[in-house]
Amino acid sequence: MTAAPHAPVEPMELFRTMLEDEFAAQTTRLTQLTVYARLPRHAGYEPQTLDGLITSARRRIADTAHALRRMSEGTYGVCAHCNKPIPLGRLRIAPSAIHCTRCEQSVGRRSGVGAALR
Ligand SMILES: [Zn+2]
Repeated sequence: MTAAPHAPVEPMELFRTMLEDEFAAQTTRLTQLTVYARLPRHAGYEPQTLDGLITSARRRIADTAHALRRMSEGTYGVCAHCNKPIPLGRLRIAPSAIHCTRCEQSVGRRSGVGAALR
């Protein structure tokens, strides 16, 4: 992790960096977990635990990729439901959020993005 200490960073660039870091980290994690799943006795993991971890890593990769795509399309940071801007504070906590806080509570449950906030 290399955070430039005092350099002013455009929020979008900051979020892009966060998303790219997250994407790389989760990809590495998924690769590792996939290897564990093939090992005898799953490297000591319960198969169900490992499945859960793999599912969550896949979901986070998908969410992150989706957010990066929205960024390149220019729709990043806008709620996919009500089209209002997503507060920056929320994006800092959940850079892959596609719904504002209010919509997340009603329609965003199945996206899985809000899981990190609960
Ligand atoms: Zn909304």
